[in-house]
Amino acid sequence: MSVSENIKHFLSEEIPSNVKLIAVSKTKPIELIEEAYTSGHRIYGENKAQELAGKYEALPKDIEWHMIGHMQTNKVKYIAPFVSLIHGVDSFKLLKVINKEGEKCNRKINCLLQFHIAKEETKFGLDLKEAIEFIKSDDFSILKNVNICGVMGMATYTENEDTIHSEFRELVHIFNELKNSSFFNDDFKEISMGMSGDYKIAIEEGATMVRVGSLLFGARNYTK
Ligand SMILES: *Cc1c(COP(=O)(O)O)cnc(C)c1O
Repeated sequence: MSVSENIKHFLSEEIPSNVKLIAVSKTKPIELIEEAYTSGHRIYGENKAQELAGKYEALPKDIEWHMIGHMQTNKVKYIAPFVSLIHGVDSFKLLKVINKEGEKCNRKINCLLQFHIAKEETKFGLDLKEAIEFIKSDDFSILKNVNICGVMGMATYTENEDTIHSEFRELVHIFNELKNSSFFNDDFKEISMGMSGDYKIAIEEGATMVRVGSLLFGARNYTK
């Protein structure tokens, strides 16, 4: 099947209409995304700022670009003028930089707070307590050029489905805690979780966005 057929099939068979698909095109060439675009799908995700900016330049402007990966503060400037959503906000230092760059281009940049839910040490993310402390602070209240739209997390890379279920459940719990504390407005509604290997579990647990790459575009080749 072609990439565009994969996407159409995935959208019609695999995910409910209230869950957004972020088609993760990282490392994939422009031509392949052009082909994916013919499916009608318009939401794509990348994890490197410069690659994202290059693809934005080269491709149709009605694509909604999501930054899904770990972000370095000095790279925010490349994507601030156009990015639709930054999923991986894992520090308040980063959030402040995003705010500053948003101010420069007169935009309010949509962000998700990334939480550390995996047992693995390697995954980035905040914990609930530090997030609440920061959100209550004056430092946070002055950030006018960011819009916190929800939470994002990555489960442990494991065959053990119970582990994945419980980690995603933890993220939903964090989302509810923040929502019920009414720190945020109605835009705070997204739970971004689930990738090629675990999107089914994520949807069962209440994901509103799944980030799926290799299942749609084929395996990534990092060695070339
Ligand atoms: C690469 C990546 C994905 C997609 O991974 P696949 O396993 O190819 O679906 C999702 N989320 C993040 C943060 C990623 O870096």
